[in-house]
Amino acid sequence: MIHVEGLTKYYDGFCAVDHIDLDIKGGEIVGLLGPNGAGKTTTLRMLTGYFPPSAGDIRVKDFSIHQDALAIKRLIGYLPESAPLYKSMLVYDYLDHVARVRGLEGDARKNRLAVLADMCGLREIMHKTIDTLSKGLKQRVGLAHAMMSDPEILILDEPTSGLDPNQIVEIREIIRKIGERKTVILSTHILSEAEATCDRVIIINKGRIIADGGTQELTARGNHANRIQIGLLRADAGIVCARLKAVRGVNDVTAANGEDPGLTRFNVLCASADDIRADLYAAIKATDWILVELIRENQTLESIFRELTREN
Ligand code: ATP
Repeated sequence: MIHVEGLTKYYDGFCAVDHIDLDIKGGEIVGLLGPNGAGKTTTLRMLTGYFPPSAGDIRVKDFSIHQDALAIKRLIGYLPESAPLYKSMLVYDYLDHVARVRGLEGDARKNRLAVLADMCGLREIMHKTIDTLSKGLKQRVGLAHAMMSDPEILILDEPTSGLDPNQIVEIREIIRKIGERKTVILSTHILSEAEATCDRVIIINKGRIIADGGTQELTARGNHANRIQIGLLRADAGIVCARLKAVRGVNDVTAANGEDPGLTRFNVLCASADDIRADLYAAIKATDWILVELIRENQTLESIFRELTREN
């Protein structure tokens, strides 16, 4: 559906997006995840045709952003970080106005407003002034605006930014529902958001893609999944390290003093993500060391994100 090649953006010589290559299939819900200033908004703005790229190409279906920007814009609904709404208007009047601008007339316009009111949970607030709405409700009106022409692709920049936890859940549910029929790309720096809403996560940092995969695929990667922490009392660190290193599947063992007297913590780095706790326990059981901890670390999207984006 979307093919991005060598996408690059310079602002006065500063490279904000640096040769991004990307393919997004129809029907995917993709999260663009990255710290502040990573280049998320710039990437989304280029995808929507709002900014021309400094280099590279974006193809949506058979259209190129260089020759057919208008055709691409017609396929995309875009909700920027702060939805630009006419705050003094009633929700109904505002959406009716947007529908007219989009060329919807008569019954088609009424029907579309009814569909959007249901889709975005606006029925109860259609006759309220936009200015009086909570941020979450305003965001839903913005979503309805973005979905007005029933676009095939929906692009959302930080859709839950500044919302309270209930509003976040509501917006996520609407996005997931829309994602059942559409291609959705959203940016976020909230990891739980990407985990909860997206099928696939692309992590960008300093304008470059540094990880790309399904949320489960990403969390299965990295060292944390292969790390087991063991706490032992009254154990000789040197002997323990030698004994545990002899267990099949162990790559390395390091020791550190624990916070309690007599407690030593051992970090066991395993060769794979296979769970070898039973084998480690068997090796410990044969000694008189007292086992007080045996923990397999979970690699969360959060830890991957920190690992990949932290400064060297
Ligand atoms: P945030 O989460 O803070 O919105 P982001 O990942 O969306 O960040 P961008 O807004 O795309 O990042 O910004 C990427 C880099 O480009 C930043 O260093 C930013 O300061 C810079 N930048 C963004 N817009 C402009 C602009 N119009 N002119 C100059 N520099 C810009």
